[in-house]
Amino acid sequence: MRVAAKYELIRQQIHEACEKTGRKPDEVTVIAVTKYVSTQRAQEALDAGIQHLGENRDEGMLEKWEVLQDKPIWHFIGTLQTRKVKNIIDKVEYIHSLDRLSLAQEINKRANSKVKCLVQVNVAEEDSKHGLAVEEVIDFIKSLGSLENIIVAGLMTMAPFTDDEEVLRDCFQKLRELRTQVQSFHLDYAPCSELSMGMSNDFAIAIEEGATMVRIGTALVGEAG
Ligand SMILES: *Cc1c(COP(=O)(O)O)cnc(C)c1O
Repeated sequence: MRVAAKYELIRQQIHEACEKTGRKPDEVTVIAVTKYVSTQRAQEALDAGIQHLGENRDEGMLEKWEVLQDKPIWHFIGTLQTRKVKNIIDKVEYIHSLDRLSLAQEINKRANSKVKCLVQVNVAEEDSKHGLAVEEVIDFIKSLGSLENIIVAGLMTMAPFTDDEEVLRDCFQKLRELRTQVQSFHLDYAPCSELSMGMSNDFAIAIEEGATMVRIGTALVGEAG
C-alpha cells in the first residue's frame, strides 16, 4: 500500500482517539519511522504530507540525509552512542533518547545551538530497553541545568510489546504523571511539554493517554519498499 493511503488510515485512527478523549488531532505530531525502508520510501512519506521522519541509527539517517537534506524535520529516536553525536547533531531537530549525563554533555559540547531532547524513560523497567527508571528522572533533569544547549522538550518511552491494554495504559499514564512532576519545577530549560509515546501497535491508546508525538514505522511506511 502507498504511504498516502496508510497515512489516511492512521489519521482516521488519530482522529477517533482524539474524539474519544476531547483532544485535537493537531496536538499530535506523527513521526514516520523510516528505519526499515529505503530513501525512496521516505521521500514518498514526505510527498504524502508527512513532515517528521525518525531514524534510530546514525548510518540510516545519514544515508537518507544525503538525498533528503533538511526537507524533513529529523528525529533521532534510537540509542545514541556518545561518539556518534557529532555525526547527527547539526541535522536533527529532536533527540528522543537522552538517558545519561555523559550523552547530555557531549550533545551540549557539539551543538552550535540549543537542541530539543526528550528524556527516555524505561517505565516498565524491562531489561531489554534503554532509559532511566521513573524515580531517576527528576534528579537527572535537575543535573542538566548548566548545559546551555540542552532543552528538555519532553519525555519518551517504549511500552512493553503486548496487546494487554491495561499494561499499555498504565505505562503511558506513568509517563504523563512524570511529565506533570517535571513541569512542577518550572525549570526554564525543561518545558517538558512533549510526550513521545506510541508506535504501530499502540499509538491510539497512547494518544488517548496524552501522547503529543507518535513514532510509527510498520503501520505507516511498511517494513520494505
Ligand atoms: C522502530 C521504532 C519505532 C517504530 O516501530 P513500529 O512498531 O514499526 O511502528 C518507534 N520507536 C522506536 C524507538 C523505534 O526504534
